[in-house]
Amino acid sequence: MPRECLRAVSRPAAMAVAFCGIIFFISAAAMAETAPPGTHPMAKQHQSMLDEIQADMAATASWTGRPALKPLVLAAMAKVERHRFVPAEEAPYAYINRPRSIGHGQTISQPYIVALMTELLDVGPEDKVLEVGTGSGYQAAVLAEIVREVFTVEIVEPLGRQAAARLKELGYANVHARIGHGFKGWPEQAPFDAIIDTAAPERVPEALAAQLKTGGRLVIPLGRQWEPQTLQRCVKGADGKLACESRLPVAFVPMVGGREGGRDKEEGRPSRP
Ligand code: SAH
Repeated sequence: MPRECLRAVSRPAAMAVAFCGIIFFISAAAMAETAPPGTHPMAKQHQSMLDEIQADMAATASWTGRPALKPLVLAAMAKVERHRFVPAEEAPYAYINRPRSIGHGQTISQPYIVALMTELLDVGPEDKVLEVGTGSGYQAAVLAEIVREVFTVEIVEPLGRQAAARLKELGYANVHARIGHGFKGWPEQAPFDAIIDTAAPERVPEALAAQLKTGGRLVIPLGRQWEPQTLQRCVKGADGKLACESRLPVAFVPMVGGREGGRDKEEGRPSRP
């Protein structure tokens, strides 16, 4: 099994993390109303995926505190075509509610987790958001449908380059991608209204906490790989401290590279000194 971004969670009753490739979330029967996805060859599968996400939201509400997606988040999930963010051989499976391989030992996250993390960020049209872990660019695209600007950092250069090219081709002029070290955030663009980290560190990186506005939200999985991890929602208080709440047991790929930092460069531009 590749070293994947594990996003699946078990049914609430089981209260356990489900591991990618072993067990996946089994959707509750309830199907919620969802906005129709656009017309594309996989629109029917896309709609089923949205229905499953809404059912998963309802089933996990006692943990997450969010029984349903806000209309803005649901509309973004309906708009972004996931089959455009996976390798060609994965495209037929793009609307299955599971993580999928994107190469380099990484995965595009489970759609339910993308939706939940977006929901927990509580973002709106005026917001400026930082994402750590660009991966395929899918989460960045979902955010870009909602917020003013997305800044996204990826440590695996070929993935970051590919995602940046894809996002550009799809017309996401409000996404700015950089190859870099997520532990450092993106200091030149701080402060952010919200920060989403899609790879798990053991503790909240100091730079991410520092680069959040007062009242800003941080959604981040914490914990070691293969050990229990939890998805945290943190809010930065007026005293500069983060107040974090654990929202869901999850299993993510680790945030790699420690704290030592590295050379960052914006996609398509020379690195700054
Ligand atoms: N958000 C992605 C999924 C990301 S999977 C999507 O929508 O497709 C997690 C990603 O985090 C991987 O691409 C991995 O390479 C990246 N990553 C891991 N450690 C990192 C670090 N220190 N800085 C930046 N990116 C990192």
